[in-house]
Amino acid sequence: MTKPKDARIKIAIQKSGRLTEHSLELLQRCGLKYTRGPDQLIAYGENMPVDVLMVRDDDIPGLVRDDVCDLGIAGMNIVEERRLHFLERDPAQPFRIVRQLDFGHCRLAFGYPEGGSVLSKADLAGTRIATSYPSIVRDYLAREGIKAQVVEFSGSVEIAPSLGRADVICDLVSTGATLAANKLREGETILESTAALLQTPVAVPEEKSAWIGRLLQRVEGVLQVRGSKYIMMHAPRSALAQIAALLPGSESPTVLPLEGRDDRVAVHVVCRENVFWETLESLKSIGASSLLVLPVEKMLA
Ligand code: ATP
Ligand code: ZN
Repeated sequence: MTKPKDARIKIAIQKSGRLTEHSLELLQRCGLKYTRGPDQLIAYGENMPVDVLMVRDDDIPGLVRDDVCDLGIAGMNIVEERRLHFLERDPAQPFRIVRQLDFGHCRLAFGYPEGGSVLSKADLAGTRIATSYPSIVRDYLAREGIKAQVVEFSGSVEIAPSLGRADVICDLVSTGATLAANKLREGETILESTAALLQTPVAVPEEKSAWIGRLLQRVEGVLQVRGSKYIMMHAPRSALAQIAALLPGSESPTVLPLEGRDDRVAVHVVCRENVFWETLESLKSIGASSLLVLPVEKMLA
């Protein structure tokens, strides 16, 4: 007999850190209302059969691979590191990367000591590279045909050169301030990262499929909305093609007649991109007037 609990979808997100707030916000925008359990490790969905497990980000890919969680949100840096690690042991893809999300931007890049002999990747041969991402770095070195030694650090990678434990580092960077504070110069980027949505490799069970489908569709909608604007204007009927060219994603606008005018129409379009002042000025210069740009609240394709 299946217990009703089994039909609940489990999503793993970071318990506390850079991705936590954005991950919870994304789920809330998908309509999820939840209460935190007393231990704060699980947030129970009240209005959907969805529970959110709050864990360390490093554990998320493994939880999704092992089908303990149906979905997970983690940085591509962690996702790729774990994926390569799992692939060394088992050739089957450990999870599905459903899509990259619009938060958690950072890059995995080399850091070279100022005044040192390594100036670029061309000088990496024979060096010791400190990193918390050994699989990604080894994969990069193999692809570039560089023979160097990878020294694994679980944290504070940036102090490895001054401790004499490594010659260079490869670590996450967003502003570069940590590198500068440790007298390191930023080198080549080997991975541009954002948060990503993962899904278990196991086929979705019948009892969960409807809600998983709805959730994935809502995530898609939330991401589209965040980058979209609703634009209204009056414009010469003859300028419709020019308007479409100026507004990406506005291929089929709604065109409405204006009372008492044959030459001008009202145009409503959803533009799948932010609209800047320059675009509005260009629209005005081809005869548009009464321009309004509105945020989009929800969208369902
Ligand atoms: P945990 O306790 O969950 O292991 P953590 O210390 O590994 O936390 P955070 O520092 O909170 O993780 O970073 C989480 C993710 O945020 C990173 O894996 C990365 O994808 C992303 N991120 C965005 N900007 C940065 C940055 N400047 N430095 C580090 N990570 C960043
Ligand atoms: Zn971590």
